[in-house]
Amino acid sequence: IHGTVAIVGRPNVGKSTIFNRMIGERKSIVEDQPGVTRDRIYGKGEWLTKEFRLIDTGGIQLEQQPFSEEIRVQVEIAIAEADAILFLVNGREGLTTEDQAIARLLQKAKKPVVLGVNKIDDLHLQDAIYEFYALGLGDPIAMSGSHGIGIGDALDALVAHF
Ligand code: GDP
Ligand code: MG
Repeated sequence: IHGTVAIVGRPNVGKSTIFNRMIGERKSIVEDQPGVTRDRIYGKGEWLTKEFRLIDTGGIQLEQQPFSEEIRVQVEIAIAEADAILFLVNGREGLTTEDQAIARLLQKAKKPVVLGVNKIDDLHLQDAIYEFYALGLGDPIAMSGSHGIGIGDALDALVAHF
């Protein structure tokens, strides 16, 4: 194993879908409902010459905690365990205050962050990525977990950090 990648982001942005794509086997449970307990948060992936451990922090859930606390713990675990973090946002919903709060936590940590704008299922949605430059996390990568778009671009950027 060359390094660890953690996926963070609000519920329903597509973390589990991307996780499944990146580990290349369908073992994580993907549910439509946010807050459903998933059985699998660790996976192993391979990209080019690199093997990596992948963590879906959305699968780490706290009982009876407000969302802000839950996401803070998820981001902390990502920062503690990962060599590179994939921060996912939802291009169809646009930038939210929760995205901005997560971005601030990530910026404090000084770990490499790759910003993935998910649910960009076809080219005419591409322009939705630009508003995410405002997060100050560099160039957003257009992705679609359900269509398999941008997975390689994100992996290129992530494994470059280990
Ligand atoms: P998570 O809560 O962040 O783990 O998100 P999930 O992976 O469970 O996905 C939440 C919902 O978004 C599910 O209904 C997925 O089918 C859907 N979804 C995931 N990726 C995409 C995508 O690229 N495009 C679209 N249109 N829907 C997606
Ligand atoms: Mg999930």
